[in-house]
Amino acid sequence: MPKAAVLTGIDQPLEIRDDLELESPRAGEIMVRMAASGVCHSDLSVQNGTIPSPTPCVLGHEGAGIVEEVGEGVTHLSPGDHVVVTFVPRCGECYFCQRGQGFLCDKYGAVATGGLIDGTPRFSSGGSPVFQMSMCGLFSDQTVIPAISAVKIDPDVPLKAAALIGCGVLTGVGAALNTADIKPGDTVAVLGCGGVGLNVIQGARIAGASEIIAIDMNPTKLEMTKQFGATQTVNAGEVDAVGKVTELTGGRGADVAFEVIGLGPTIDQTINMTRKGGQAVLVGVPRLDVMINLPAAFAFLYLAKTVKGCWYGSSNVHEDVPKLIDLYQKGELKLDELISREISLDQVNDAFEDMKTGEVARSVIDFGG
Ligand SMILES: [Zn+2]
Ligand SMILES: [Zn+2]
Repeated sequence: MPKAAVLTGIDQPLEIRDDLELESPRAGEIMVRMAASGVCHSDLSVQNGTIPSPTPCVLGHEGAGIVEEVGEGVTHLSPGDHVVVTFVPRCGECYFCQRGQGFLCDKYGAVATGGLIDGTPRFSSGGSPVFQMSMCGLFSDQTVIPAISAVKIDPDVPLKAAALIGCGVLTGVGAALNTADIKPGDTVAVLGCGGVGLNVIQGARIAGASEIIAIDMNPTKLEMTKQFGATQTVNAGEVDAVGKVTELTGGRGADVAFEVIGLGPTIDQTINMTRKGGQAVLVGVPRLDVMINLPAAFAFLYLAKTVKGCWYGSSNVHEDVPKLIDLYQKGELKLDELISREISLDQVNDAFEDMKTGEVARSVIDFGG
């Protein structure tokens, strides 16, 4: 039986359960023995209700492991394959996948059900369904997911590092490399320096930005940004962030500014610190009731700014995961440095507390496989 961390209701601590049933993979699905799972802010957002989800639910949506069993019709994966799990599967056949926008794949629509693509989860307890966050449910040493949610990787890559790719790295690095159009020599501002923000920063560095201004209110996070490529740090708790970025860019504003928090006021600030003709990229996950108010004439007409929504780093997982692994193997993409703490599944609630205080970039659950 799998051992899993289950959310039973909003604001409840996760329950560690070892009595759940896990069904074998159906057609088009695979069973994965998880090696490692990252604990991400979106898990916390499900726990506190920012991201709605049916309960009880096995949380966890970024991780890596080894395929144990494949369902009918799965031809691109076999037992023993090492895989990165993504929470945005790409079918390759829908309107969006056919147009190179795999991150908008229609199959993602099933996510609201708390089940897999057919709307039903594979975990259960006493005959009642136990749902799976983001068609994943990776806070479990064993899970069943859609085969199109897994990308095979080189078995030489440590699974603990690979575990982070599926969410924070694809989102953050993808925002810089895919969503934004960063030109070598650009000045980039990043508002919000948690796990995803650090990845936006390293993506901007890989894209060739010459100045990267990291903005946060937490000095510990700001200190961490330097090893990922930040050239300046701004503590928004001490100074006006828009004024400071304007000053640091000779009165112009940033060529590209990223919002990685998801709050109305910080989205406004991000657009305001973008130079005329520049790009503001919205990466943070806002509550569903957050609205933005933009001056139509000044934001769009006279100042010709572009505001871009960024879902999942505009990634096409089957191309981007191998590309990121390659950058990691060349030493250009930092993954090990993102892991601030390795924990056991039993310590997952402590990791949630650490995220609330903002002192930890990423806790990674090591399933000890
Ligand atoms: Zn995540
Ligand atoms: Zn698709």
